[in-house]
Amino acid sequence: MKVLVIGGGGREHALVWKLAQSPKVSHVYCAPGNAGIAQMAECVSLDVNDFAALAEFAKREHIGLTVVGPEDPLLNGIVDFFEEQGLAIFGPKKEAALLEGSKTFAKDIMEKYNIPTGAYRSFTKYEEALAYVRKQGAPIVIKADGLAAGKGVTVAFTLEEAEEALRSMMVEDVFSGAGSRVVIEEYLAGEEMTLLSFVDGETVIPMVPSQDHKPVFNDDKGPNTGGMGTYSPVPHMDDSIVQQAIDTIVLPTARAMVAEGRPFRGILYTGLMITEKGPKVIEYNARFGDPETQVVLPRLASDLADIFLAAVEGKLSECQVEWKSDAAVCVVMSSEGYPGSYPKGREIAGLPANTDDVVVFHAGTAERDGHTVTNGGRVLGVTAMGNDLHEAQRRAYETVQHISFEGAHYRTDIGAKALRKAEHNKR
Ligand code: AMP
Repeated sequence: MKVLVIGGGGREHALVWKLAQSPKVSHVYCAPGNAGIAQMAECVSLDVNDFAALAEFAKREHIGLTVVGPEDPLLNGIVDFFEEQGLAIFGPKKEAALLEGSKTFAKDIMEKYNIPTGAYRSFTKYEEALAYVRKQGAPIVIKADGLAAGKGVTVAFTLEEAEEALRSMMVEDVFSGAGSRVVIEEYLAGEEMTLLSFVDGETVIPMVPSQDHKPVFNDDKGPNTGGMGTYSPVPHMDDSIVQQAIDTIVLPTARAMVAEGRPFRGILYTGLMITEKGPKVIEYNARFGDPETQVVLPRLASDLADIFLAAVEGKLSECQVEWKSDAAVCVVMSSEGYPGSYPKGREIAGLPANTDDVVVFHAGTAERDGHTVTNGGRVLGVTAMGNDLHEAQRRAYETVQHISFEGAHYRTDIGAKALRKAEHNKR
């Protein structure tokens, strides 16, 4: 079977890498891909939102399965478009992807179906939002309603920060429309955890938990990014908490979407805060997380193509999904200036060949005159496996030491807090 992966970041590189291992998959295409993906798949220079061209390509090349990485085409209805033409595609339809596309929609679902989350109000008028924030006081969380590339959330610890966030979203419109409606949410204290699940209607198969590091600098300092590094498993989180999250959040969400007449088929990403009162939702995404995927897929023992195909055929409930006990750590190397503006085209040196233990997933790279150069804010996701998190972390950072490009930045503490907490819990 030929497979087409849509997207061109680290997540898509991980998808391509895993799908290419399937004995069922004869050829992997990726649109548009990147320099790293090009080493294991055939990159096709098509825009992720040019559905007509993508569908035509899928027909011409007899693609047996298309897998969508990023949220944008999902929200624009790529799955609806492909299915109307009888093409097999894995991902939620537009009406189900709204769980990610509108925070107000997501919050309303959670409220209606008693899915635990922070208290919230939604606003379209700046003055009303401002008055509400002033009444609630800090800490408080301000979220742009629409898509903002993972950067539309401000956790404000002072009233000034909250007011500044409101102003930039609602008055200065820094997210080009995505912040014309905002959700103002109760600040939730606790530990974060991400759970990705394969979902088909009411069938839910959870993956192993993982944890991202959003802020750009060590010790969670600086502005939020799309994600600076991940680890899996999350050793300081009990299995019982994960089970509680599945029972009180993931399953009820899948059932709620069926009840709403918008059955969800695809990857449901639940960003959770483990509070004193149990897990609560801080965000839903309608696709694999980036860079969570880079640590979750290396731990998957089963054939990913089998799982996707089963879901597309409505047979996910018949699927057995197995996981490896190994740990994985992904350290993101980014361009200087990210998440603000950053230079492109800097030559990358020292990229190692992939091994069983270390894979460098490319996020924002391109090929220029035979050299691999930077082409995005997040450039590489250096991922290592190990018997435990210590070993995976050591291997990931050893590899990072050998890779260089001008202005390279990375956090040096990916997984460190988890290891400290796990150590503390043991005592
Ligand atoms: P999001 O883009 O929704 O994942 O939010 C980015 C980050 O903001 C999350 O990873 C959390 O660290 C933080 N965050 C979001 N919502 C809340 C909340 N209600 N309380 C505390 N922190 C939050």
